[in-house]
Amino acid sequence: MFYHKTNIKKVYIGRFNKGDDIIEALENFMAQNKIKKGIINIIGAVQRATIGYYDQKKRKYVKKKINLPMEILNISGNVSVKENKPFVHLHAVFSKKNGTTLGGHLLSPTIVFGGEFIIGHLKGKELIRQYDELTGLFLWQ
Ligand code: ZN
Repeated sequence: MFYHKTNIKKVYIGRFNKGDDIIEALENFMAQNKIKKGIINIIGAVQRATIGYYDQKKRKYVKKKINLPMEILNISGNVSVKENKPFVHLHAVFSKKNGTTLGGHLLSPTIVFGGEFIIGHLKGKELIRQYDELTGLFLWQ
């Protein structure tokens, strides 16, 4: 296991605008507010979404576009540093009109209908993602 002991520096609470791309909007927000380590939680609704599933054998993400209005039951994740920039890593669970759910690793474009976020800016040293030979993923080092 690998971990940092840290504390919350500041908490931001707000909402997205209709039409925002979640990943893009958050990466801009992190850069503007100089947030390089933090926690993210989102609820609301999307007009459409893109999710990924990491194929562990092929070592790549299988992308799926869902062109449906859905509820965001939960999006949670974190921000850390990849290639010297804030990198947002989120996982999502959505519900369709009939109540069934689907989800995965959140990708762009995922377009907001309405949505609320809480972001916790964490103190302490940067958390940096680097390529990991064992998994093919960019993991915290
Ligand atoms: Zn993921």
